Amino acid sequence: MRILVQKFGGTSVANPERRTQVAAKVSEAVSQGYSPVVVVSAIGRQGDPYATDTFIKMVSSIYSEVPKRELDLLMSCGEVISGAVMVSTLRSLGLEAILLTGGQAGIITNNNFGDARIIRVEPENILKQLKEGKIVVVTGFQGITEDGQITTLGRGGSDTTAAAIGVALNAEAIDIYTDVEGIMTADPRIVEDAKILDVVTYNDICHLAHQGAKVIHPRAVEIAMQKNIPLRVKCTFTNSPGTLVTNIQPDIQAGADAIGDRIITGIAHTPNVTQIKINIQDEENKSQAVKKIFKGMALADISVDFISVQPENVLYTVRDELADKAINILHNMGFEAEAVPSCAKVALVGGGIADVPGVMADMVEALAESGVEILQSADSHTTIWVLVKKEQMVPAVQSLHKKFQLGK
Ligand code: ADP
Ligand code: MG
Repeated sequence: MRILVQKFGGTSVANPERRTQVAAKVSEAVSQGYSPVVVVSAIGRQGDPYATDTFIKMVSSIYSEVPKRELDLLMSCGEVISGAVMVSTLRSLGLEAILLTGGQAGIITNNNFGDARIIRVEPENILKQLKEGKIVVVTGFQGITEDGQITTLGRGGSDTTAAAIGVALNAEAIDIYTDVEGIMTADPRIVEDAKILDVVTYNDICHLAHQGAKVIHPRAVEIAMQKNIPLRVKCTFTNSPGTLVTNIQPDIQAGADAIGDRIITGIAHTPNVTQIKINIQDEENKSQAVKKIFKGMALADISVDFISVQPENVLYTVRDELADKAINILHNMGFEAEAVPSCAKVALVGGGIADVPGVMADMVEALAESGVEILQSADSHTTIWVLVKKEQMVPAVQSLHKKFQLGK
């Protein structure tokens, strides 16, 4: 059996015309001799009647502390609706299909409601249906705990579902269908001349995805990488080849240096973060103070990023919606803390960054030329990050894209 996993995101299943295009992709796979497993997301985006956010609002407008278990039960309905609609669409076109929920598809997770991790996939049920010649539609974004509780996998979780099933079934490929032509050098909504990356490594895409390129979820890439299952990011509405994510470096001779000639893969951005600045000048025991700060954040379940501990200051970022909570905790602990809300992280990502001198200099120059102020910066061997005000995020991404000639 040649198994192909095809995942369709929210915009791909948003209306009947688009769902017919989805069915055409599935039908095409069948005629090529594949047994398709079709993973679907909920229908539409924020504001649409069956979108995940709409469901959350329905209950959170009544009560702000809805238990996570109940929220997961509710959120899992979006994919169930979408899956049933997809099965009906496929059947209306003469294709025999069956819908399995995450649990029925054997996706076993831990009980971290809202952001559950897949522990294993028990693929027997999917296999049985495939062997009977059916197209198996699986609800994305959800699983089940050992004791039968329904869980969801966090934002972008349908990508993770597709990857996990692809690995468990040893699929020939995992196709992630979306509303853009593939993975590009930057978000095409921001950069007009963003270029499609034809072939990229799991590693490069993982870095880009972790930095906010939401076209694919980083966990999906990490899972596909376990068994080297090719991951392809394609557009539902066109026939272009999209991006192939694999472990093979493009255009590289056997045994050559692993970096190849791509210094920079792309630019990613994450808006809506708050920078927190804490003055620890007068603290007697600074290391104790630093410890207290991060313990306080951890206890309140606030994840921190972009940490910079300096002799007189501690800087870090949190998501905007957690900023008030973080500042309150700090003030209650007696710290002098200040928040700079509405910032954005912009990341220049590429395996060659560490080896090429002058990348940072070019970055600073490009940002200065377009009047972007750097609030904070950091780097690793594959990424240089800058924190900027949110309104300067778009010019920052655009000027870096231009400076490093990524559109060429
Ligand atoms: P889906 O609903 O299909 O999962 P998403 O909205 O999660 O779709 O992801 C697709 C979106 O990702 C695109 O519409 C695009 O705006 C955005 N995006 C961000 N960074 C990139 C990038 N580097 N390449 C392509 N798309 C990107
Ligand atoms: Mg997505």
